[in-house]
Amino acid sequence: MFLKRLDIVGFKSFAERVSVDFVQGVTAVVGPNGSGKSNITDAIRWVLGEQSAKSLRGAKMEDIIFVGSDSRKALNIAEVTLTLDNDDHFLPIDYREVSITRRVYRSGESEFFINKQGCRLKDIVDLFMDSGLGKEAFSIISQGKVEEILSSKSEERRMIFEEAAGVLKYKTRKKKAEYK
Ligand code: ATP
Ligand code: MG
Repeated sequence: MFLKRLDIVGFKSFAERVSVDFVQGVTAVVGPNGSGKSNITDAIRWVLGEQSAKSLRGAKMEDIIFVGSDSRKALNIAEVTLTLDNDDHFLPIDYREVSITRRVYRSGESEFFINKQGCRLKDIVDLFMDSGLGKEAFSIISQGKVEEILSSKSEERRMIFEEAAGVLKYKTRKKKAEYK
């Protein structure tokens, strides 16, 4: 499995539709301060199910919608689609290409899609659980996260290792079974 493409429209500083193609190997995004590099990783975490506005560096979820500039009106909708190559069926779904879409309206309403089919947020979170690409997964280390990992409590650090090792899925299922 690898990331193929990210399509962004109306998300944070991306008022125009922007497509980022990831090639196999290393892709580096470079640009001056404030040009939107971190907004790209925010978009990836958001489409994977991030629910905390704070961790997307905003105060409320609405803050991720393009707020307008001197030359452009604010938008009322933000949409991000992440396309993954799943030829190796690493993700437990019967498609060779998987696209995940998340859309939010200024009214607060959200929509989620897997391969253009409407779904629940939970379906997306479940699909990526233990894939190493979940919203909290170790594969995305944002500015400041390194320090957080080093200084967090040992239980929190353990969670990071459990997700990395792929056992979090089983722990979550066990907990669910115990509550029944
Ligand atoms: P650095 O090199 O300093 O880390 P960066 O390239 O990572 O910079 P980002 O943090 O991705 O920069 O982008 C910040 C920019 O995004 C700011 O100019 C901010 O005004 C803009 N921005 C954030 N949210 C919105 C929004 N809702 N609408 C329009 N612009 C936004
Ligand atoms: Mg940055």
